[in-house]
Amino acid sequence: MNSTPLSACPICSRVLPHDQLYDHMALESPQARQNTIRVIQGHHADWLAEQGVCEPCWKSFRDAGRVLHMLKAAHKPTAVDYWTHAEPRALSEPQDTTDNRSVY
Ligand SMILES: [Zn+2]
Repeated sequence: MNSTPLSACPICSRVLPHDQLYDHMALESPQARQNTIRVIQGHHADWLAEQGVCEPCWKSFRDAGRVLHMLKAAHKPTAVDYWTHAEPRALSEPQDTTDNRSVY
């Protein structure tokens, strides 16, 4: 009767009926949906919720979001900085300008 168009999951490229990229998101609570969307965008900066995502991908990111949420709740916010903080480049890069004079 209704021929459902196929769509590829933007995350894993799995091809599914278009609706299956969205149906499971509609079933989530608004808070879980927001959290999971944020987690996915943390890994796939170009991804938008309107593009949808297959259920296996969604679930794995939702679970990851739950773990992150628990970690944040259990630790001080500085614990998160540990992961995002990039080591500053060493200031003492070898500078061998002393022996660089060319001899004429
Ligand atoms: Zn997927």
